[in-house]
Amino acid sequence: MSPSSSTADRHTAHFRFENTYSRLPERFYARLNPTPVAVPRLVKLNTELARTLGIDPRELASDHGVEILAGNRVADGSEPLAQAYAGHQFGYFVPQLGDGRANLLGELVGRDGLGYDIQLKGSGRTPFSRGGDGRAALGPVLREYIVSEAMAALGVPTTRALAAVTTGERVQREIALPGAVLTRVARSHLRVGTFQYFAARRDTDGLRILADFAIARHYPDAAKAERPYRALLDGVIGRQAELVAQWMLLGFIHGVMNTDNTSISGETIDYGPCAFMEAYDPATVFSAIDQQGRYAYGNQPRVMLWNLTRLAEALLPLLEEEEGSEQAALRSANEALAAFAPKYEVARLDGFRHKLGLFTEREDDALMVERLLELMFANHTDLTLGFRRLCGAALGPEGDEEVRSLFADAGGFDSWLVDWRKRLKEEPHSPHERARSMRMANPAFIPRNHLVEAALKAASEHQDYQPFEELLDVISRPYEERPSLERYTMPARAEERVSQTFCGT
Ligand code: AMP
Ligand code: MG
Repeated sequence: MSPSSSTADRHTAHFRFENTYSRLPERFYARLNPTPVAVPRLVKLNTELARTLGIDPRELASDHGVEILAGNRVADGSEPLAQAYAGHQFGYFVPQLGDGRANLLGELVGRDGLGYDIQLKGSGRTPFSRGGDGRAALGPVLREYIVSEAMAALGVPTTRALAAVTTGERVQREIALPGAVLTRVARSHLRVGTFQYFAARRDTDGLRILADFAIARHYPDAAKAERPYRALLDGVIGRQAELVAQWMLLGFIHGVMNTDNTSISGETIDYGPCAFMEAYDPATVFSAIDQQGRYAYGNQPRVMLWNLTRLAEALLPLLEEEEGSEQAALRSANEALAAFAPKYEVARLDGFRHKLGLFTEREDDALMVERLLELMFANHTDLTLGFRRLCGAALGPEGDEEVRSLFADAGGFDSWLVDWRKRLKEEPHSPHERARSMRMANPAFIPRNHLVEAALKAASEHQDYQPFEELLDVISRPYEERPSLERYTMPARAEERVSQTFCGT
């Protein structure tokens, strides 16, 4: 809406919904409206994201808009539905999961010409709720808001947060907590588990319709390929290899990498007990429910390949149609999966080269990376702060002390520094160019767990949204130098440390 629109218009939220998913066969979802809440109150609106989606933020913030965001009103043109999907949870297959507390309101075409799902999360029970109440607590809603927006600002493909609304109702978890609804934006909510849902039912027609939908939405080039379904599989594998490499470079731990939380679009999805690692340690696990460490930081690439193998299995009937035999289909699937590891390794090493200020490639670079990570592990060095301070050392040895102080065994680190400097001599760039480019690869600000917890606690227990707003501001410009915000760059002190996170579902 333009600023000149009439007053009446400004009090009515308009969405140009397209409902391509609700045109799919009825067995893909359950049609139902969100369940209204007692007292909807908008606590956060992502005005910038609203604009990129072509929605007027003032309309969204109006009473009418907030009613839509709370699920108390169905927007014109919206055909709400809960999507069906299956999934492997911690290795065990569940043939029916589905949106147990989410509603897809519709799809919009953004200013970038791409399609986006608008989904309410915490919007009430659905036929997929099983024992759950269909609701979400404020804490986890704000956590998803902060962490998904941080990931977007860090340049990682991710679902986004458009709004958070409190419901005026309590949700019963271990204790009664304030309820909330998150409006989530995603390129789509198709998951590996969506394919598994149809494969488990031997519904090859459903599988084909789903695959064609995924291709049209996310991998349009695959439609022109000789083998479109193989091209779809290749596409997902390629995007997920790059995605998990980005997670690893940032120390992001997803926490619940179940196949229903692995997106077809290649976006990070489902921020439950996710967290950023501080001291570098591949065995790091935060999620309270991940007792075996299945989804530990260092396991993420392996788990992603495992999940993609489940996708390949689900696609076998379609690959068989393309290949002409079961055996050839298996060969095709295995070929596609074999590309994951090298793609991931290349993306990871490439990312670490950027983090180390290297523009050219040498064979020993991987070794230099591993040596530094080993030193970080042995010295409990904060991954984010360590790399950020290395940017200062890129300017010259006068910057060494800041980073060296993060290594108790300074001798080991010093000898690494000597080799790094030697390596930098082979680079064509000036120290200033190098430091600048390193600062674009090594964030100063991530949503550190203790800061996230403090922001959630203030909002949930005291209706104080100031820490949440401040943290959002900090993480929205993660690569900038902001000297007044130094406390946000620092790892938790021992007494602040958060060692466990909960999905809060
Ligand atoms: P998640 O762990 O959030 O990825 O969710 C896994 C499955 O549990 C999905 O099918 C969710 O819809 C469902 N679920 C999670 N929380 C709830 C809840 N509070 N009420 C109903 N279903 C839920
Ligand atoms: Mg999920």
